Amino acid sequence: MNTFTFVNTPVSASVSAPVHNTDKGEKPVLQDRDFARARAQDSGEKPGFCSAPTGLTELDHLEHRLAQVEAGLLLNRAELLELYDVEQGSAAEQLILDTAQRLGRRLADNQGQVYAQIGVDGRPCPGNCQFCNYAVMNSGTGSPTTDGSLTGNSSADTASADTASADNLSVSASPIDSPSTTPFDVPPQQVVAYAAAFAQAGVHLISLMATAAYDFDTYCDLVEQVRDAVGADMPLLANVGDLSLAQAQRLKVAGINACYHTVRLGEGTLTSIKPAHRLRTCANIQKAGLKLMSGVEPLHEGQSAAEVVDAILTVARLRPLGSGVCTITAVAGTSLAHLRPLNTMRKRFVAALARLAFASTTRLGFVGGIDWVDAGADPRARSATLTAIETDFGDKVQDAKLRLEGDGWRIPRSPTGFWL
Ligand code: SF4
Repeated sequence: MNTFTFVNTPVSASVSAPVHNTDKGEKPVLQDRDFARARAQDSGEKPGFCSAPTGLTELDHLEHRLAQVEAGLLLNRAELLELYDVEQGSAAEQLILDTAQRLGRRLADNQGQVYAQIGVDGRPCPGNCQFCNYAVMNSGTGSPTTDGSLTGNSSADTASADTASADNLSVSASPIDSPSTTPFDVPPQQVVAYAAAFAQAGVHLISLMATAAYDFDTYCDLVEQVRDAVGADMPLLANVGDLSLAQAQRLKVAGINACYHTVRLGEGTLTSIKPAHRLRTCANIQKAGLKLMSGVEPLHEGQSAAEVVDAILTVARLRPLGSGVCTITAVAGTSLAHLRPLNTMRKRFVAALARLAFASTTRLGFVGGIDWVDAGADPRARSATLTAIETDFGDKVQDAKLRLEGDGWRIPRSPTGFWL
């Protein structure tokens, strides 16, 4: 699960056009071979496409290089590291921000969208992400393991930790008002009602977020119910644990169009999930014909330039259709509660750098354009209060649209086909 829902983060916008503008008769901005060539240079100190990576922060060189990036050429690792350190408040920083903003809006066709996220459970999760409220290690219900499995559970070391269900969980009746240490599922009928209310309110995508402990069969049943309730045109995104290819294929059959998955900073160290499992899941998602949304997260103070740049490049190589950056939400009572998220200015800058690094292979993200509304279980909170069906969904969605319009984004009246 992604515990950071990109709320108020400069993230993404959506477009109805295909990835490349070939439908308009335009030449694709970036060819596959260009991406491969540029990324092949990531690991070395060799120059990128531009012959002048040294002195990049000299303004005229930077302007020239960024014009190349806007035209479809890629920055390499050495260049990204150099740009990461430009002086805050400098003309170079402003140039990077402006270029990223211009590129991001062009790629997104300046369309803003409102996405809804519904958390479906609050089970002790074997993913054991130290920053998550639902991690086994933070819930007081078990000991962290190194393979993503619940203590005593036999599902260890599979690409799918989400089959690790805890069968003796009590399922609370609605409304739920419980501390996070009490495992709970949001009743399926309530999830369906939330989804229907969000669809009615005019969101452009609905994400169903579950812990890796949520039973996979139950999740698929839930997806089918939600699909029936929201109709065929509403993009449904799964935000779940690691998936085998067969599971990804099954999600598609159940009605899912896309998945959120990523390799997070500190994966395998701050979490019990091996980065290789995350990467395999991303590949499975794409092989199954599902679209991939993948973020650079969680960002916090104290991370080195190399850590952040490498995280950006790791996610860029996945070639997700949509992306963004998220800062950590330091939840009181969790083992990483002391971490401080990047401040807003720095987050904007890292997002801009990522926007440039992803180039046109990823159309959505990093420069605003997406606003999230949510309901149900919230892994960022230390307590979870689920009310009966909320009556203010329409207001929430309308407020989000007004915020986007205030930032100059055009809001489509209905979901676009981008995630379908
Ligand atoms: S502990 Fe589980 S629910 Fe929490 S972020 Fe990790 S995988 Fe997701």
